[in-house]
Amino acid sequence: TDVDPEASRRAYELDRAHVFHSWVAQGPHRPMVVARAEGSYLWDGEGRRLLDFSSQLVNTNIGHQHPRVVAAIQEQAALLCTVAPQHANAARSEAARLVVERAPEGLGKVFFTNGGADANEHAVRMARLHTGRPKVLTTYRSYHGGTQTAINLTGDPRRWANDTASAGVVHVQGPFLYRSPFWATTEEEESARALEHLEQVVALEGPSTIAAVLLETVPGTAGIMLPPPGYLAGVRELCHRHGILLVLDEVMAGFGRTGAWFARDHWGVVPDLMTFAKGVNSGYVPLGGVLIGDHVAATFDERPYPGGLTYSGHPLACAAAVATITAMADEGVVENAARVGAEVLGPGLAELAERHPVVGEVRGLGVFWALELVRDRGTREALAPYGGSSAEMGALVAVCKERGLLPFTNGGRLHVVPPCTVSDAEAKEGLGILDEALAVVDAML
Ligand code: PLP
Repeated sequence: TDVDPEASRRAYELDRAHVFHSWVAQGPHRPMVVARAEGSYLWDGEGRRLLDFSSQLVNTNIGHQHPRVVAAIQEQAALLCTVAPQHANAARSEAARLVVERAPEGLGKVFFTNGGADANEHAVRMARLHTGRPKVLTTYRSYHGGTQTAINLTGDPRRWANDTASAGVVHVQGPFLYRSPFWATTEEEESARALEHLEQVVALEGPSTIAAVLLETVPGTAGIMLPPPGYLAGVRELCHRHGILLVLDEVMAGFGRTGAWFARDHWGVVPDLMTFAKGVNSGYVPLGGVLIGDHVAATFDERPYPGGLTYSGHPLACAAAVATITAMADEGVVENAARVGAEVLGPGLAELAERHPVVGEVRGLGVFWALELVRDRGTREALAPYGGSSAEMGALVAVCKERGLLPFTNGGRLHVVPPCTVSDAEAKEGLGILDEALAVVDAML
């Protein structure tokens, strides 16, 4: 490889001296240097190759360094690097057209942001202004971003230290059969009881005070829980009945991850607002946005929308989105994600679950899978406490990396989230490494 270990050592030392990292205690943090990447692989500071089964933060849906996207960014950079948000620009206009074309009927406009958190911030702002109501209902076991409103909307432990300005956010339990909050034994029961719970919370909070229900179509970092039959349709109906907007967060689940352009396509639910980021341009340049239902957009036909960003619809980010979406369509990338999930990852992970007692459940679709790792299949005690870590989870990550795979873990779960472009051979290579790593963990229990 052309990785220079001396340059990598310097990058590491300067990082430790001057870079302040997200979510971690700074002292013990030992970041891996990533020197370069291509397709499904990256190279660390010593030039060791790793199969990227994390897609970084589940965002490189088109793989690393896709030549058409790199070229589009280079061409746009040569033409026009930046433009103020009030002007029109070809890259932004075309990106908006391509996103709207893939969204459900009736969501005809896009407000571009810098990422997922601010997309959710703006969706909530729009919902509150459109309805004139203050509250938003979200689920525990969710992640919606790290800015103030977005972290309050979030249901995972990262919210705990940040609940200092959470006025108006109410959390409910979403459906999750494996750890059912509703004592359910079937997906149908889980769905019906989660809907009944939501109905009760809406009644108790006061329907006329609730602007929106905001959900990840498929909760991602919190565990990749597929919505059970009837759940999303039930939430949609409940929202209609009470004049509440439905906001779907497709930041992680969108743009091919589930083997569809948007995860909502699997269930046919039509939200009033839909947020996206990550896969829209695979994160090559920061970009997110809100798809706005025509009735919500009409609220701001005469009345100014009170919000904006210097980089809303940034030309480099939008040029990257145009190239990403076009290449994904031309190259059948979404179809590939669906097929690899159905033919390789799904069956392969089910087979790992059969052989490794530490695997309590496998669930997912496309290139979006979670393995629930447990100390005991009977009690379902997680391999790490909620929001925490453990020696076994640490060992799992270490063994994966030793054998050449970069995994994605959260609490006691292993997520299998390679790029949507992953080949059968790469998926099988990854499954082989996971097989070895799970065997090490089995032996620790
Ligand atoms: N929503 C979901 C579902 C996410 O997974 C994330 C990021 O992981 C976000 C929102 C926040 O996006 P960003 O980190 O781009 O602000």
